[in-house]
Amino acid sequence: MTANLLDYDLEGLAAFCERLGEKRFRATQLFRWIHQRGATDFDQMSDLAKSLRDKLKGVACMQALPLVSQHVSADGTIKWLFDVGDGNVIESVFIPEADRGTLCISSQAGCAIGCRFCSTGHQGFSRNLTTAEIVAQLWFAEHFLRRYLKRDERVISNVVMMGMGEPLQNYAALVPALRVMLDDHGYGLSRRRVTVSTSGVVPKIDLLAHDCPVALAVSLHAPNDELRNHLVPLNLKYPLSDLLDACQRYLEFAPRDFITFEYCMLDGVNDHPEHAHQLVKLVREHGGTGVPAKFNLIPFNPFPASGLTCSAPATVAAFAAILNAAGFVATVRKTRGDDIDAACGQLAGDVKDRTRAAERMAGRRTIMIKPATEPNTRRPA
Ligand code: SAH
Ligand code: SF4
Repeated sequence: MTANLLDYDLEGLAAFCERLGEKRFRATQLFRWIHQRGATDFDQMSDLAKSLRDKLKGVACMQALPLVSQHVSADGTIKWLFDVGDGNVIESVFIPEADRGTLCISSQAGCAIGCRFCSTGHQGFSRNLTTAEIVAQLWFAEHFLRRYLKRDERVISNVVMMGMGEPLQNYAALVPALRVMLDDHGYGLSRRRVTVSTSGVVPKIDLLAHDCPVALAVSLHAPNDELRNHLVPLNLKYPLSDLLDACQRYLEFAPRDFITFEYCMLDGVNDHPEHAHQLVKLVREHGGTGVPAKFNLIPFNPFPASGLTCSAPATVAAFAAILNAAGFVATVRKTRGDDIDAACGQLAGDVKDRTRAAERMAGRRTIMIKPATEPNTRRPA
């Protein structure tokens, strides 16, 4: 069977090279060619002996995800849909800003958590992505963007695991993917600039602290268990007190000295000033010492099946002001890529219905551009 080399962190690639009877340092060369130079073909790897390249061709490949579509928003945001087989499509979104380039990556096709306000949650769970499928999103985006933006240095400085899926329910595939992102021979991203966002899978938060501590964002969305049970059903298994305990433990290992709490603003559901006051009390007083935190208030992106609407801007501002007055940094997430449905959780039920997705996108004011170089979509032999 042909091995997809995007599946390996450096350690895994070294083991693969050893199995081929090659020295471990070859893995570093290979890894740099793949991730730093975006090589899609072994013949591009000019400092590897021809005999080794030929050997690799017989047993390995760099397998990209077939690209379904690419849409560029007026604000520069780019959204890609990739085909992961069996009618499943996942999304990645690039968000350019003055001082950084952020890639939002998916970890699963669908999601089993079933949050009330999330279209991925409504659509249910299909399957976990492999490490290669997680890494392929970054590999493709980084090297496509260098060509597209005519840049010869790194374009993506930040990765957020905030696309489809619950990353901590795909832990075994996630950790090697994070290591590829962090590796100096890979993408060399700082731990502070790689963020795992979770709905609160408590045991995996503890594992991540030991295996690969990166920045952590926790999707809170409610200041009490009763409301959170309703919005994020995982709360029935890991209630707020257990979750905040885990956040405190994580901070001992985290690259940042705070946890980011995400809070999706839902009109008349979790946006009352009393909710903000409860939130302050909860986070400030938990375990006696509180949890050092920043808040990210996300305006809800509505979709019909949710039956929910977004809080009014004045309500969001008032909520933020209560958090600010209590000494917390609270930012309201800017909506980016609105015109291409690239904002959080907007792929709706279309993942399993590509025709409808294509029709919906065709009706938008978007520019469909052809990649400068087609991604390598060969299937392994
Ligand atoms: N499963 C992880 C990461 C993916 S979701 C998690 O839940 O954290 C990334 C963020 O987008 C989460 O905070 C999630 O709650 C939020 N989100 C999901 N659907 C949304 C919607 N329709 N509008 C606004 N934010 C949404
Ligand atoms: Fe899954 Fe996150 Fe959506 Fe909840 S918000 S259903 S955990 S992707």
